[in-house]
Amino acid sequence: MPAMNLRLISPELIVDIGEIAELREIAVRGDVLSIGALTRHVDILRSPEIATHAPLLTEAVAHVAHPAIRNRGTIGGNLAHADPASELPACMVALNATIIVRGQTGERRIAAGNFFTGIYETALLAQELLVAVEVPVAQKNSAHFFHEFARRHGDYAIAGLAAQAIVRGGLFTDLCAAFFAVGDRPILAKAATKLINVGVTPTVLAEASATLAAELDPQEDQQASAAMRRHLAKVLLARCVSALLGRPDLTPGGTL
Ligand SMILES: Cc1cc2nc3c(=O)[nH]c(=O)nc-3n(C[C@H](O)[C@H](O)[C@H](O)COP(=O)(O)OP(=O)(O)OC[C@H]3O[C@@H](n4cnc5c(N)ncnc54)[C@H](O)[C@@H]3O)c2cc1C
Repeated sequence: MPAMNLRLISPELIVDIGEIAELREIAVRGDVLSIGALTRHVDILRSPEIATHAPLLTEAVAHVAHPAIRNRGTIGGNLAHADPASELPACMVALNATIIVRGQTGERRIAAGNFFTGIYETALLAQELLVAVEVPVAQKNSAHFFHEFARRHGDYAIAGLAAQAIVRGGLFTDLCAAFFAVGDRPILAKAATKLINVGVTPTVLAEASATLAAELDPQEDQQASAAMRRHLAKVLLARCVSALLGRPDLTPGGTL
């Protein structure tokens, strides 16, 4: 509706899918958490299943806008809209989620990492409806990190990071770090692979930080320059690593 108000879009036909009750379920089946496309942000925030099995989403969704928006906005609409500054697309990439879409020719299952293709662009075809997302349930030893820089709580981020990790014996055995608002889509940082299965020292982190800065291509807008976004991304990576490994020595001040 805001996009129509701003004359950004003028659809010839609008179909209200809001009453399709079966698209609003949250269910755990085996080791998969399934979230229907019409699940509203507020449902995510309050769901005990999501808090238990995908706590990254519970934390992230509290940063999506304000209660009035969270009461109406849906996960399907949020992902289909594909705003690069949006929190939930990055979470889906960090969680290695599968996005399920259905059309006249059947169902497609799309890895979140392949779903977002550009600013407001996705792999959805015109005839397809996003029906659900499936998220692997959090494993033992899994840990998550979410933080965003925004001028006010609830604003779209200037730069943000959603990360999911497995930590064993003070090491990352897995680390998926998905940045948002620093590119035209959520960016799964290749730099994070430099931190897996190695003792993270300030030097190792500095190398990963440099790799991150090189792989990001942030836009400049009225909120921040590209250089500021790159800097904030490095700060986020350091905070994430420090928090998840319980290593106060790896603070941004000490490493950047
Ligand atoms: C003032 C304001 C502030 C906001 N701030 C934030 C923020 O900080 N962070 C954030 O992440 N989001 C933010 N949003 C976006 C909001 O969270 C909603 O996710 C977004 O508006 C989508 O709303 P909706 O679910 O009603 O989808 P709609 O507005 O109905 O749809 C959005 C688009 O997705 C398509 N679509 C919807 N559902 C489906 C589906 N199931 N399958 C295929 N296509 C579909 C529609 O055709 C349309 O193109 C903000 C929105 C507003 C108005």
